[in-house]
Parts: sequence; structure tokens; C-alpha cells
Amino acid sequence: MGPAQEDRAALDRAVAHAWHWLDSVPGRRVPATGTADDAVARLGTDLPSRGRAGADVIDELAAAVEPGLMANASGRFFGWVMGASLPTALAADWLVSAWDQNAGMRDATPGVVAVEEVAATWLLRLLGLPPSAAVGFTTGATMANFTALAAARDRVLDRVGWDVAADGLSGAPRMRVLTGAEGHGSVELALRYLGLGVPEKVAVDDQGRLDVRDLAARLAGSTGPAIVCLQAGNIHSGSFDPFAAAVAVAREAGAWVHVDGAFGLWAAVAPGLAPLTAGLAEADSWATDAHKTLNTPYDGGIAIVADAEAVHRAMGVHASYLLHASTVDPLELVPEMSRRARGVPIWAALAGLGADGVRELVEGLVAAARALAEGIGRIPGADVLNDVVYTQVSVAFESDDRTRDVYRRLVAEGAIMPSASVWHGRSVIRFSVSSWRTGKAEVRDTVASVERAAAERVRRTTSVGE
Ligand SMILES: *Cc1c(COP(=O)(O)O)cnc(C)c1O
Repeated sequence: MGPAQEDRAALDRAVAHAWHWLDSVPGRRVPATGTADDAVARLGTDLPSRGRAGADVIDELAAAVEPGLMANASGRFFGWVMGASLPTALAADWLVSAWDQNAGMRDATPGVVAVEEVAATWLLRLLGLPPSAAVGFTTGATMANFTALAAARDRVLDRVGWDVAADGLSGAPRMRVLTGAEGHGSVELALRYLGLGVPEKVAVDDQGRLDVRDLAARLAGSTGPAIVCLQAGNIHSGSFDPFAAAVAVAREAGAWVHVDGAFGLWAAVAPGLAPLTAGLAEADSWATDAHKTLNTPYDGGIAIVADAEAVHRAMGVHASYLLHASTVDPLELVPEMSRRARGVPIWAALAGLGADGVRELVEGLVAAARALAEGIGRIPGADVLNDVVYTQVSVAFESDDRTRDVYRRLVAEGAIMPSASVWHGRSVIRFSVSSWRTGKAEVRDTVASVERAAAERVRRTTSVGE
């Protein structure tokens, strides 16, 4: 074999392993069977002194990793908030790797930058956000939160005459940052990266929604630099903060409003969910993921900032900001200078689905979550703790021990996979419906799995008592 043929052999092996994996996903056990330690043992820790043929390396890789793969692309996977990959988006992602473009500069790699620009325009229209907003493609919502909050930090301090880019944060005017008490940990991480410390926690209601009266009380008389972080999609209840009222209160105090909508921002595409997202578009910035609700492969986050100049100033490398919307380089919109064209699979997902398809995808996830809640709610001892307004279902059984026991049985059986969590002081089994593959059959199988896991314990308890 010549070198070119050898390269091709490695790529062909990768395609074969990819097919093997993808074909197995719908029917396979959902949790990984092997551990990371097992995989390390198979791979071996000594770096070989001599290289080997690419095809052999790829075969060895696939064999070592296979038992440790979790089928999060399965329609019976409900763990964390993850989501599967639409085949069209995955195909585009393969091309992104093959093309290997550095998507940081518009003139250097115009092909993929154009695709990302089109995707950005489509996203703003779909989500009903200001058409002139800046859109940056980040690794995920954590970095999208970071990007948007960097723009927020710099802008609100700029308004009181403090230039963070020039003078840093030492000696800067005090800035207040407020979030709902059930804000996602990634917002706190982003604030930590930005030197803004731990945010003030605003009270929330029984569904985890921010209490606007508490926000108003905290901001009363406050006129200094401030950022209010709202949430679209609470991970336990799926609830949405009351945006219209919260934005009005924040505006009164001159605060910047940021929305973490990692999976919830997508509710904006479904007319039936309009009450959840009312006022959402009035915020100043938004963070979301494509790798969750939109079902693109990892990784794809999206940072959207209405004040485009603020994000260019925070993320750009230029000393002066001659702003012509058509000549903004992608590297001025995100923390990375060099990066893969991660907006391309997002474009492909949107192109493949069309606006109607995106709406149907989101409506399908919500319908599946409601059906799951209904089915599980009928199981003796099971209690659905949240109002199922979106994609999240949190279930508890009679006691924390019993909830954890049912969870362990579910994972041991492996036909489905939810998450174990704690919400409002109770152990819960949390189902996040995020996969385009979750349909009626998957919902039925999932309810049956939970029934089995719950009944198993009842049988055991009965026999112990007999
Ligand atoms: C997943 C999630 C994040 C973090 O997103 P990553 O893509 O993991 O960085 C932030 N907020 C919420 C509500 C999330 O569900």
C-alpha cells in the first residue's frame, strides 16, 4: 500500500466502526458497560516507540473504547440534558473534520465562515431574537454564558466610565450580579472565570422560577453596574423565569439582562409554548446549546448578544473597533482564536429540518415528556414532582432510599437511562427528553422499565415481610 492508500484505509476503518456503532444505538444497552479504568488497561499506558498503520490504530481504538460508550443518542436515554445527533448534522460534522478549516477569519476560510453566518441569521429568526445581534459559536452553553457575560461585564462598567479591557477589574466600581436560586452551575462558573465571584441568589417559587418581587426588592434604589441572569429551562422542572416582568424590573435599575437558555431557548420556536418565552427577546444576551435540543453532535454552543459592539470589544483582538457588520471575524465573537467550524453542523441540522422541522422536533420532545410523566405518574408510589411544561420530568418514590433503589435497578437493567439528582431536598429520578429518537415506542418502553424497577422492589419487600 502506498501512503495515500494507507490513509484511506484508516478512514475506511473509521467509517466501518462508525456504522457499527450507529446501527447498534437504537437497540443497545444505554449505560456504558465498561469503566474508564478497563479502557485504560486495554489501551496500555506506555507510548509505543514505533508507530503503526493508521487502520490498526483505528481498530484498536474502537475495540478499546466500545464497552465504555454510553448510548446517549438512544431514544431511551434521558440522562442530564444531552441530546442525540441528527444524521445530517453528524454528516456535516464529518466534513468539518475532513475540511479542517480554522474558522476564525472570514477572508482566510470564507466557505465555512459563510455557512456559520447563514446559520446565525437563521437562528436569530427562528428564536425571534434581534436580527442585528452578534452570534458566536462556542463549545457549549458554559462558554456561551461566559462570552455573553463578558460583554455584559464590560458594557455595564463602561457605562460608569470604567474600561475593563484597559484597566482590568482591580479597583473597578462594585458590580452586582443576581441569579435565581436555581440557576445552572455553569453560570456561576462563567462568573468565576470573569472575576465576578458568587452571584446574589434571588428567591424562586416551587417550580424554580425567579420571584420577581424578590428581584425588585433587591434592586430597589440600586443604580450601579448590575447584571441579572435569568433562565429558560430549569433542569429539574423545565420551568422558565417570568421574563417580561423580570426584564422590566432589571431595566428600571439599569441592569443588563442575560438569559441562560441552554436547552430552553428552543421553546421560542413553538407557538404552543409562547407563554413560557414571553419577554425573552427583550433581554440583552442569551446562551444556548445546539448539542442538546437541536440534536447536533458535540460540541456546539451559541452566544447571542444584542449589543454586537460589546461582544466585539470583549472578545476581539483589535485595538480599535471599526465596526462594519459584514467584516466581523468569527474570532471576535468567541474566546477561541483558532477553532473548528462548529457552526456548520448547526447549519446542516437547520437546513435538514427546516423551520417546521425544528418546531416539530421541539414539540415532539415536549409531547414525549408529557406522555412519560403521565405513564410514570400512574405507577404506584411514583410521584411526578414538577409541572411538566417543557422537556423535564422529576420523579420521586415514597422515600429517598426507595427512589435511589429504583434508579439503581433502572441503570442495572440498562434498557433506559435517566439521571439521579436531588431537587428541593428530595432524591429524584430525572428524565430529560432531548433525543429526536424518542417517540411513542420509546416512551412506552421507558414507562415499562420504570414499572419493572418499581415492582421489583415491592416484590422483594413483600417477600422479606412474609
Ligand atoms: C447544559 C446546561 C448548561 C451548560 O451547557 P454546556 O453545553 O454543558 O456547557 C448551562 N445551563 C443549562 C440550563 C444547562 O442545561
